[in-house]
Amino acid sequence: ILKGKTAIVTGSNSGIGLGIARSFAEAGASVVINSFTDDAADHELATEIAKEFGTEVRYIQADMSKADQCRALIEKAGACDILVNNAGIQHVAAIPDFPVEKWDAIIAINLSSAFHCTAAALPEMQKKGWGRVINIASAHGLTASPFKSAYVAAKHGVVGLTKVTALEEAGKGITCNAICPGYVLTPIVEKQIPDQMKTHHMDREEVIKNVMLARQPSGEFATVEQMGGTAVFLCSPAADQITGTTISVDGGWTAL
Ligand code: NAD
Repeated sequence: ILKGKTAIVTGSNSGIGLGIARSFAEAGASVVINSFTDDAADHELATEIAKEFGTEVRYIQADMSKADQCRALIEKAGACDILVNNAGIQHVAAIPDFPVEKWDAIIAINLSSAFHCTAAALPEMQKKGWGRVINIASAHGLTASPFKSAYVAAKHGVVGLTKVTALEEAGKGITCNAICPGYVLTPIVEKQIPDQMKTHHMDREEVIKNVMLARQPSGEFATVEQMGGTAVFLCSPAADQITGTTISVDGGWTAL
């Protein structure tokens, strides 16, 4: 259903971004995957996805912590019908101990990059009269947890930016929505497990069950394929009037 469309997914050489990029390729879109690295493995990943789904897939290096590189990513892609602002990092610490450079990096990558990429992508979408901006927020864009000040602030900011983008583009064929995942077992979550094991004096399985999935009533992780399916749905005609809102894919987290 996405033949002829170009989709750019920021932060997509792993995890949710990669899952979404693969779903777009499966739906026939030409896809740009991205991260801040420029390794042979990044380019090989693009080649592999292209081969698997028979569509064009390119890897474009750009550091989403830098405004000019965000804007350059959109320019280098040459086209952008679908923009997924997905790049994100995490750091866990109490506010008095929260390193300033971690705060700045999280705000830059998780929030400001979405602004810069959207700003660069909208003019072409306006010319074409069609566009989709999908921001990957989080259950933490709607609720909070202690020790995640920068992440929660950035993700609430992403939800606000989503609403403003939707209002400015309403009636122009361009929609903007945020997907709010609960826990998905990707590298960003894997990295939190050892700290949580120490903090709670639990083993890996106990942390997963009693700490992480304690917030997720389904008791199950969401998957990157489910994020991909939701993103493709948001690009389908059924979603033409869905704009300025959040779609939670969180096993019931935000219903609690
Ligand atoms: P991940 O660590 O697997 O992926 C993060 C991606 O961002 C990677 O591809 C990484 O290379 C990229 N990235 C990091 N810094 C970058 C930079 N400076 N420039 C360009 N790319 C950069 O984690 P993930 O779980 O796939 O996270 C993807 C998004 O989903 C994030 O915004 C995250 O906050 C959000 N999210 C994840 C979960 C979860 O449980 N995994 C839940 C809610 C929201």
